[in-house]
Amino acid sequence: MNSVTVRVPAKVNLQLAVGPLRDDGYHDLVNVFHAVSIFDEVTAVAETGMSVRVEGESADQVPEDGDNLAIQAAVALARHAGRSYGVSLAIRKAIPVAGGMAGGSADAAAALVACNELWGLGLPLEDLMEIASDLGSDVPFALLGGTAVGTGRGERLAPLEVGGTFHWVFALADGGLSTAKVYGECDRIRQEGGEPVGHPRAAEPLLAALRVGDARALGAELTNDLQPAALSLRGSLARTLQAGRAHGALGAIVSGSGPTCAFLAESEAHAETLAAALKTENVARDVLTAHGPVPGPTVVQGPPGRAQRIPLSHDESGQS
Ligand code: ATP
Repeated sequence: MNSVTVRVPAKVNLQLAVGPLRDDGYHDLVNVFHAVSIFDEVTAVAETGMSVRVEGESADQVPEDGDNLAIQAAVALARHAGRSYGVSLAIRKAIPVAGGMAGGSADAAAALVACNELWGLGLPLEDLMEIASDLGSDVPFALLGGTAVGTGRGERLAPLEVGGTFHWVFALADGGLSTAKVYGECDRIRQEGGEPVGHPRAAEPLLAALRVGDARALGAELTNDLQPAALSLRGSLARTLQAGRAHGALGAIVSGSGPTCAFLAESEAHAETLAAALKTENVARDVLTAHGPVPGPTVVQGPPGRAQRIPLSHDESGQS
């Protein structure tokens, strides 16, 4: 095989509970991840060296050197295999960059899957997961897709059965927010407030709403401990969230470390009306609709319009 293309979804956090700052600088998290239908595409072509180029949504803000997470993933996979493989990666971005939707992690996961195929390694998902958790806390979920509870730094994952499809609207902001800065601001706000920070736990009513596919109940249960920090760094997001609520969103939340805002709609039709209303209100750089959960990285082949899905082993676990 000379070329492999993998499509990979963005994520939104349905619950992001942040524990106290640990001695190693990380926080214990409870992170309910949910993959949504906004996709990057990563194409891997056999080459002697390692290279990456990026096009699409905010491509100019993504590094095209060894700092790119997709290249780091390819290098880590080659090292794991103990061989000096080469690859040229082409990334087509649709996931907002530094938007709190884990676009870089998604590209890293896609690169692992694409290079595993391209180099004929045949490594099982478990091996890719191990490499993924060294690359970043959000990369293991990006490999899995669907909906899952992450604990630890977010990398210990338990997939969840979800009883339906949820419809979302995403309001994209101008410019990104640095995840590290948002965590720093969260620590600062907490220190100032002086309240003790408890050990994070998954919210049972949220998990129940997911199990039965109840959008109204889910909307009421969305929480993000990073939201006050994101709002403190980017005050305009409060107006964006308010506009979504005013137009009937069942839940309105900053996605991960922001600045993308996520709104849960009642139905696909409601998502379209909500998106149109947010566009009219002028509270976002762009507004997208999407649904979730969707499966993780998917190998696609052939010319556009005749894409063929090659199921990965984890698709058989009922996540697709
Ligand atoms: P998260 O939700 O995991 O905190 P994010 O969605 O806020 O992440 P990303 O889009 O992953 O943020 O980008 C974070 C930074 O990583 C960017 O500023 C960018 O410079 C860098 N980066 C490295 N590789 C990539 C990539 N393939 N795609 C996007 N950003 C990348």
